[in-house]
Amino acid sequence: MEDAFLDELDERGRASAAVVVNLDADTRTCPACLHVYAKGPVRCPECRLHIGA
Ligand SMILES: [Zn+2]
Repeated sequence: MEDAFLDELDERGRASAAVVVNLDADTRTCPACLHVYAKGPVRCPECRLHIGA
């Protein structure tokens, strides 16, 4: 019901926050395909999305 709806929103919010945090971590999570890779390449090795330095 309403609680489940709010939980879903919160879960999505946490996932987005985790992607942002990972830009400064030793690993990055591609925001497009969620592939996790070691920082270094400016493109996701999985989907070639340009992430930036
Ligand atoms: Zn990707």
